[in-house]
Amino acid sequence: MLNFEFKNPTKIIFGKGEIHKLSKEIPNDAKILLLYGGGSIMKNGVYDQVKAALQGFEVTEFGGIPANPEYDVLMDALKVIKDNNINYLLAVGGGSVIDGTKFLSAAANYSGEDKWEILKKPVRTMEGEGIPFATVLTLPATGSEMNSGYVVSRRGTNEKLSTGGPGLFPQFSILDPEVIRSIPKKQIANGIADAYSHVLEQYMTFPTSATLQERMMESILQTLQEVAPKVLAEEFDYDAASNFMWCCTMALNGLVSKGVLTDWAVHAIGHELTARFGIDHARTLAVIAPSHYRYNFETKKGKLAQYAERVWNITEGSVEEKAEKGIVKLEEFFHSLGIDTKLSQYTEDYRGTAEKIEEAFTERKWLGLGEYKKLSPQDVYKIVEMSY
Ligand code: NAP
Ligand code: FE
Repeated sequence: MLNFEFKNPTKIIFGKGEIHKLSKEIPNDAKILLLYGGGSIMKNGVYDQVKAALQGFEVTEFGGIPANPEYDVLMDALKVIKDNNINYLLAVGGGSVIDGTKFLSAAANYSGEDKWEILKKPVRTMEGEGIPFATVLTLPATGSEMNSGYVVSRRGTNEKLSTGGPGLFPQFSILDPEVIRSIPKKQIANGIADAYSHVLEQYMTFPTSATLQERMMESILQTLQEVAPKVLAEEFDYDAASNFMWCCTMALNGLVSKGVLTDWAVHAIGHELTARFGIDHARTLAVIAPSHYRYNFETKKGKLAQYAERVWNITEGSVEEKAEKGIVKLEEFFHSLGIDTKLSQYTEDYRGTAEKIEEAFTERKWLGLGEYKKLSPQDVYKIVEMSY
């Protein structure tokens, strides 16, 4: 196992009807900016619950943060923060609203004139540097409610960049599985695929000796497989919803990655597809992951075979055969969620994408992707081409 330090300061308040506890967690003198997305919270009753809990607090609101939070919109929110001397941010939404809020927490106290620098350089936000913030999660998927990373998009320049830092953990997050009732099935499928991929990106590295972490990750993968049909069914199933929600948080709150090598190439390449084509985040991962594993088969086959064996009960065959079956199982799992795994199924304009992404990675002087940072922009070219 590799050496590690672990600190996750986010308090989780989990369960049905817990949104009212907001008032106990936020300091009385807070000047709150309530941030939300395109309005789903107005329709499903979450906004009303939040407003009821915040009675007596000074609250300003900023809505309209789009999926894949847009830098220009966040700059408008930053102005609201400055104009109203806001000192506490409350994100009510999915990963996009929460990530946007993390950027604002960092940007509000950042001395540089050009706030895009924070993502471009990138700048990490250390403890005590950001404005305090909390979240009410409305969409299980990203784990952003209990981690310190975030991703911001800039449509004008086709960029989607990520950073974070130990100063950007939410102070607390409220996770009420009842919010899942109103999520469109397509978004639920995205949530399952995103969380599943988060686990794989911390798992599919080799060699390793982090037995406990591996078994925790295998449990999350199997639990997601088990609850997937139940959370995608017409009838709402509270138990399935709560297990799904907790899986998503556990998949990316830092715990399972401690002491292991991680490989975030699938996310890094996937972000380029969202930036260029607007494809949902989770779907880009389903496009890239199978190609990434086939391209890096030699280094990953041991772990792929373990995944096939332990997660899918595939016991027959050589390491290579099991590893290939593991990739096929992964593709079939994405398909069972209604998620396509080829770029050409999302856009007719896919030709040339590999060249463009290779160029972007070269320009940004990427030091290499993969668990050993050995994947060059040319390797990325080949992975993207395989995903057409
Ligand atoms: P999202 O972009 O936050 O939300 C997707 C859609 O779901 C929005 O249209 C939203 O509508 C709707 N929605 C949310 N909750 C709902 C509810 N309860 N009922 C009905 N509709 C609801 O989706 P996400 O997958 O959570 O976040 C994706 C972003 O997170 C991407 O930018 C991705 O790159 C990033 N990400 C971050 C991390 C991290 O660790 N920080 C990890 C992975 C991905 P409204 O806008 O109306 O609310
Ligand atoms: Fe993700």
